[in-house]
Amino acid sequence: MTCVEWTHPSTVAQAIEALADGHGQAVAGGTTLLDLLKLGHETPKRYVDLGRLPLRDIAVTQNSVSIGALASNSQVANSELLRTEFAAISESILAGASQQIRNAATVAGNIMQATRCPYFRTVDWACNKRQPGSGCEALRAAGPGHAILGTSNHCIAVHPSDFAVALLAFDAIVHIQTPSGRTSLPLAEFYLLPGETPQRENRLPPASLIVALEIPRKMEARRSAYLKLRGRASYEFAAASVAAVLTFKESRVAKVSMALGGVATAPWRKPEAEALLIGKQLDRDSIDRFCDELLADARTLPETAHKLPLVRGAIHHVLARLAEQ
Ligand SMILES: Cc1cc2nc3c(=O)[nH]c(=O)nc-3n(C[C@H](O)[C@H](O)[C@H](O)COP(=O)(O)OP(=O)(O)OC[C@H]3O[C@@H](n4cnc5c(N)ncnc54)[C@H](O)[C@@H]3O)c2cc1C
Ligand code: SF4
Repeated sequence: MTCVEWTHPSTVAQAIEALADGHGQAVAGGTTLLDLLKLGHETPKRYVDLGRLPLRDIAVTQNSVSIGALASNSQVANSELLRTEFAAISESILAGASQQIRNAATVAGNIMQATRCPYFRTVDWACNKRQPGSGCEALRAAGPGHAILGTSNHCIAVHPSDFAVALLAFDAIVHIQTPSGRTSLPLAEFYLLPGETPQRENRLPPASLIVALEIPRKMEARRSAYLKLRGRASYEFAAASVAAVLTFKESRVAKVSMALGGVATAPWRKPEAEALLIGKQLDRDSIDRFCDELLADARTLPETAHKLPLVRGAIHHVLARLAEQ
């Protein structure tokens, strides 16, 4: 049996101190971490339980909504303000996991959750993300759930979070406490593509904690939607998902932001594609041209080729739904 030390800080400063020697790992709801522990993944020397930190509030100002890192997924999904002003945020959370898991899981844990690549989770397989330099079993035997965007010759694992996809479409900002002070990063810059170092998934500095996620409050954000396509109606990760935020002026697109999930190694967005829709009416041709640009860099395998028509269909569907609102 592995013995791991647990520590229960009650302030952010104490938590950072407990992480400072590089041998600690933060635990929030534990819904990802305890699974990996049971699957035999390597354990840290120390778990740092964040449960007592005062980071659960949702604070609203005129310009933004700030969600404490430890707010539960259910708390955020059911917030009246988020449901009305940021529908895609609420829809993305409710499309994930189960009620019990959403009650325990936190928002920071959600955006930091580990990939569901089966070769990563099962310790018997070669996996560059779990064990750098060991190889990638998925490149030899990909499954239908692997990625088609942002892949490399070292990893093709999909980023699993639904919530992060919606956050990206809303230009969210990640607030971070490091040992030397506070910093923040747009979510668009937070994730790293696998490249040659798939074990490095994000730009969170060592011994640091996410303390809040901030969503700018803009009038145009009010027309938004999240669509998740998956193998069964609940309790299933995305085969492809789309978060879209759209504004019209005289029946033409004035602003659009769209992020994809289930198809890429990190939540995926391409501003050059979005620019093609500005000033256009939403019809089959304009949406097809948008999809061509957004998906231009896709690299498929026979096992993942179905994802291209799947995600195109989801994009058409979401834009049509928003156009009707
Ligand atoms: C059966 C099942 C089905 C699921 N289905 C879906 C789904 O359909 N869609 C979906 O999006 N998700 C799904 N999930 C994932 C679920 O949403 C995540 O497990 C959950 O959000 C993680 O939150 P947590 O607080 O439990 O994180 P933990 O397990 O406590 O931690 C996860 C990671 O986040 C890090 N972390 C936590 N808090 C912080 C912080 N403040 N700062 C820095 N690092 C931090 C931890 O160190 C760890 O690396 C599913 C999970 C399960 C078990
Ligand atoms: S795709 Fe990535 S996570 Fe999956 S086995 Fe390969 S390296 Fe590991």
